[in-house]
Amino acid sequence: MYFSLIVMFICISIVPLFIMRGILLVNVKNSLYSERVENIRQHSETLAEQMVSEDYFEETDNEYINYQMTQLASIYDGRIIVIDSSYTVVWDSYYRINGKQVISEDALKCMRGSQVWHHNDELDIVELSVPVIEETQDGSQILGALLLSSSTATKTEAYIQVRTTSTIVFAIIAFLMAVLVVLFSKVFVKPFKVLVKSINHISEGHFEDTVHLKGFNEIVQISDAFNKMLVQLKDQEESRQEFVSNVSHELKTPMTSIKVLADSLNTQPDAPKELYQDFMKDIVEEIDRENQIINDLLSLVKMDKKAGELNISKVNINEMLEQLLKRLRPIAAKRNIELAFEGFRTVHACVDEVKLSLAFSNLVENGIKYNVAGGWVKVSLDADHNYFYVTVSDSGIGIPEEYQDKIFERFYRVDKARSRETGGTGLGLAITKNIVLMHEGGIKVKSREEEGTVFTVRIPLSLDRQEV
Ligand code: ADP
Repeated sequence: MYFSLIVMFICISIVPLFIMRGILLVNVKNSLYSERVENIRQHSETLAEQMVSEDYFEETDNEYINYQMTQLASIYDGRIIVIDSSYTVVWDSYYRINGKQVISEDALKCMRGSQVWHHNDELDIVELSVPVIEETQDGSQILGALLLSSSTATKTEAYIQVRTTSTIVFAIIAFLMAVLVVLFSKVFVKPFKVLVKSINHISEGHFEDTVHLKGFNEIVQISDAFNKMLVQLKDQEESRQEFVSNVSHELKTPMTSIKVLADSLNTQPDAPKELYQDFMKDIVEEIDRENQIINDLLSLVKMDKKAGELNISKVNINEMLEQLLKRLRPIAAKRNIELAFEGFRTVHACVDEVKLSLAFSNLVENGIKYNVAGGWVKVSLDADHNYFYVTVSDSGIGIPEEYQDKIFERFYRVDKARSRETGGTGLGLAITKNIVLMHEGGIKVKSREEEGTVFTVRIPLSLDRQEV
């Protein structure tokens, strides 16, 4: 990343800088030479007009014109050649090729009426050809041409100076930019290096560490999000450890009781038969309890998997709840508790019947377990377009406000003794909540001590509809 950044920054800063320098130098060169050409052009055009008015091509030894041309050639440190319409040199400021013919490309173009100029890099001169045109009533006639050349040595010198200065200035700027690019890339990459180091450190199990990245807003946001994730990981790790220790503890308790009972029988070989029977009954109860815990644990572990594990079918919820109450009525009757069902409408929903039945059973069983003799448990069912709602209310002992958040945690029991006495494992509500969440629903509890408890469950009528 570091080197990619450097290459990227060089491409977007230093390369355009050198392209700019190239364009600048080409422009400087052109403007220097074209300035010289413009000056010569102005003078030579005036000269061409005078040649026409003085009939120069009739009388080429016109002293005035020749003097003007000599002056012009010396001002511009150059040479002037005049050719007539037959390309014959009629005057040469160097007096070398008088009478000879000049049939160059420039001369040909000029005789067709156009002015031409270019720079000869080899000789370091500009060459300009200006036609001498006579305007008559019948049209224009080209009488000859002025072929001028002028040294651009001074201009080239100025150009070289500009080029050298610009090379130095641009090299300094490029160097400073390169230094900035390297520094900036280092600063930019640093937080990522710190993050990678932290991730490696944390992945070794150091969940207590946090990262504090400084710099751009986005980097600080990454740091915050990472720390949040870390807190969740820490919580998960803690709850995993707590769960494992709870499971071991819960499974050990009945085992310890069984061992104590068996040991005491072993140490009393002459114990009466009644005592044996009594102890064996207790041992069987403990085994049942161990079984119950294992069954609940297995259900819970199964529920931890994804909602894809659901066995969905269209279920008549009214019938399902009535069936469930029918099954629990004998247990309720033992404690003289009345079970009632109130369906505001008939509800059909696409759910996992076995799992949902278990979830509501847990709620109703709790309503019975944590109730007072002669109390009641009421189940009601209602629905709207998207959800159905089941409330399980009871006239029981209630749950103190401070424990209401915790009762859905695995193995959490408000009153351990009472839960144990009624065969509770502390897993019922955790199982119920898992099943509800698998159905993408929600569960709420409202309770007052000594008055009763209301659990409200909301489940979508169809899981597919929820996804749309
Ligand atoms: P348990 O097997 O102990 O019943 P649950 O997970 O079903 O475990 O419930 C957790 C705890 O919440 C219970 O131990 C009990 O203290 C409390 N609780 C649950 N339902 C009720 C209720 N209807 N009335 C009063 N307390 C309840």
